[in-house]
Amino acid sequence: AAKKSGKNRHAWFDASMERDLQARNELESGLRVAIPRHQIVPYFEQQVELGSGKLTGFEVLARWEHPTRGLISPEAFIPIAEETGMIADLSLSVMHQAFTAARDWDPGLIISINISPWQLRDAWLAQKIIKVLTETGFPARRCEIEITETALFDNLALAQSIVGSLKNQGVRLALDDFGTGYSSLAHLRALPFDRIKIDKSFVTSLIESADSAAIVGAIARLGESLNLPVTAEGVEDAEIEQRLTAIGVSKGQGWYYGKPLSVAGARRLLAERRLIPQAPAAGAPIDA
Ligand code: C2E
Ligand code: MG
Ligand code: MG
Ligand code: MG
Repeated sequence: AAKKSGKNRHAWFDASMERDLQARNELESGLRVAIPRHQIVPYFEQQVELGSGKLTGFEVLARWEHPTRGLISPEAFIPIAEETGMIADLSLSVMHQAFTAARDWDPGLIISINISPWQLRDAWLAQKIIKVLTETGFPARRCEIEITETALFDNLALAQSIVGSLKNQGVRLALDDFGTGYSSLAHLRALPFDRIKIDKSFVTSLIESADSAAIVGAIARLGESLNLPVTAEGVEDAEIEQRLTAIGVSKGQGWYYGKPLSVAGARRLLAERRLIPQAPAAGAPIDA
């Protein structure tokens, strides 16, 4: 009997692994057609100046608008896109859509784009990004690139040359998810960053955890002494915002200010705040 149940358990594991593999393969083949069909779309998360609450820009976050499954999170498809080399096309497509949408928004708003470390192995990455900026007519000065420090740069010289070309055009550079990666402090000197983003794991736990509060405080002071402004991600409520302001963090983003918005949602928000050219209301006379 023991032998039999052992065998069954083994068979059950195989079946579950088989299902995982099948689900992954379905995502992969789905992704292959979703990218050229522009079903991977940009969502926009507000970034604000803490204290005044002023909107300073948006971080672009990829979402898969799946025809039958609804919105799929990048955590489910970015790793597959990286493994299969589709990340390059995916990112450029999302970037193209985001810049096209944001081109006529208030020129004071900065648009932040996520770049996966995998993309920094492409010697033509800077040229490809500059091409998207040119094609969409989006000014490089209003663009910020976010690079995560996870497994940062297996080819540091190449990453430095890519980043150099982008910065020559006026693009800004942020170090994303700071504090979670391997040897964080060394990364700060590897590339000419303009901003540090504190990982949300420290921010969401800021109130309950004295350790998190100490780490956030240390990063804020580090930013101050290196003359690098700091953004906190994962600001989920007023209490966290208040504490960050007291610590001296200058910018924040997170669910407290709203969930990431579709292009249409971002346009509505900007129209309310008069940060976008006003289209005449439907039915309203164009010339009064
Ligand atoms: P990230 O760049 O660190 O983005 C922040 C993540 O935190 C986003 O998850 C966002 O939805 C989530 N978030 C925002 N506010 C809050 C909050 O108040 N509380 C909590 N708990 N979470 C919050 P998302 O959209 O699932 O993105 C996950 C990661 O996927 C991103 O992390 C980024 O590394 C990657 N990613 C997203 N879009 C792209 C893309 O277009 N290209 C590349 N290469 N990577 C992307
Ligand atoms: Mg980011
Ligand atoms: Mg982040
Ligand atoms: Mg992250």
